Amino acid sequence: MHQAEKKDKEYVWHPFTQMQDWSTRPQKVIAAARGVKLIDTDGNQFYDGVSSLWVNIHGHRKAQIDKAIIDQLGKVAHSTMLGLANIPAAELAEQLVGIAPPGLNKVFYSDDGSTAVEVALKMAFQYWQHKGKPAKQKFITLEQAYHGDTVGTVSVGGIDLFHRVFKPLLFTPVHIPSPSCYHCQLSSDRTTCGMQCASVLEQVLSEHHAELAGLIIEPLVQAAAGMLMSPPGYLAKVRELTQKYNVLLIADEVATGFGRTGKMFACEQEAVAPDMMTLSKGITGGYMPLAATLTTDEIYNAFLGGYAEKKTFYHGHSYTGNPLACAAALANLRIFRDEKVIEGLGPKIEAAADKLQTIARLDYVGDVRQCGLIIGIELMQDKARKIPFPWEQAAGSRVCLTARQYGLIIRPIGDVIIFMPPLASTVDEIIEMLAIIERSVRESL
Ligand code: PLP
Repeated sequence: MHQAEKKDKEYVWHPFTQMQDWSTRPQKVIAAARGVKLIDTDGNQFYDGVSSLWVNIHGHRKAQIDKAIIDQLGKVAHSTMLGLANIPAAELAEQLVGIAPPGLNKVFYSDDGSTAVEVALKMAFQYWQHKGKPAKQKFITLEQAYHGDTVGTVSVGGIDLFHRVFKPLLFTPVHIPSPSCYHCQLSSDRTTCGMQCASVLEQVLSEHHAELAGLIIEPLVQAAAGMLMSPPGYLAKVRELTQKYNVLLIADEVATGFGRTGKMFACEQEAVAPDMMTLSKGITGGYMPLAATLTTDEIYNAFLGGYAEKKTFYHGHSYTGNPLACAAALANLRIFRDEKVIEGLGPKIEAAADKLQTIARLDYVGDVRQCGLIIGIELMQDKARKIPFPWEQAAGSRVCLTARQYGLIIRPIGDVIIFMPPLASTVDEIIEMLAIIERSVRESL
């Protein structure tokens, strides 16, 4: 056993991990990476099929990002944003505003997806206090939502397995049905249902708008729920209704941002301009922890006033606007422009769609969902009757462990196989990774 594995097992507590199981089984230790591959301490190479938890965009050891961080190290690694500004953070804010949906003109930095959402929730709450509508305090969120693991973001979460235990600690949002067609409880026919999920939302908004501060949504894809995808037009309808009832729309693009859906942001797919947008994961190309909450002049202006008015947004973190992370993010955006990354996604998305048709026909594949290079393959013991595998059979985990033997790192969410490769993967690499998934499903179940 490698020294690092020994030390890990002795001292490290891993996220979302059953540690009793972890410590008793051999584990991989990643020592290096290059392109779309991770390399372990024995020199074995694996495709990074989940982009190191959905963060990596241009591959590992991307020369321009490596250089941007090294160059910034030669200037300053960190200085506080309390009472001071820094060059990369200012430059990045301008560029983020330049690519964001119209109207999002201000950038508030934080460190990860959860804190970006936490900022949005607090900002929305305080905004209504300043606007003289203090009763607007509640949030609408979707069933199965995942917005992070801090107490505020767990409050607007809806995944029972992760969130139930913390209920006594949390504030209570208003839940609306997840718009995922495959699991829909409202209608059995998506072609004729007239988007009943949106009708439920309208009913909630009409009854409760006076007490609602905002609606938070993962646009197009509820990622951690197992890549549940909303029907076309749902997001635009949510925008229309939140505007009609004067409720702020928070688009959580932590997972969907930076090209994952085939456009820079998922909101663009339905020409939606939210009141707030949260970004993290791909913002630095997968290099450094950084997040941003973008918002409108209308919201920003509500926080302006003299000291006596006490309108300051009292929120911040030690590493807010870290220059190294902002330098990495600037390099990330430069690569998007120089290498025309979004423009090059079409053939990759099509190649994946093509291969997924074969996977969809496998015996134990109940549903295959794709939005750009975000893919969820849901396993079912009985696909015709939509009967899942018993939980203790860990069907998803078995498939992913088999895939490792063939050189692909993927992770399941329950029995949904998540495939989210770096955008830099070539068509051939995407086909090869999906072929490994196909083979692993066939051999494991
Ligand atoms: N929001 C969404 C939509 C996410 O998918 C995630 C993480 O998966 C988060 C927020 C939380 O991000 P982080 O894990 O960086 O705190």
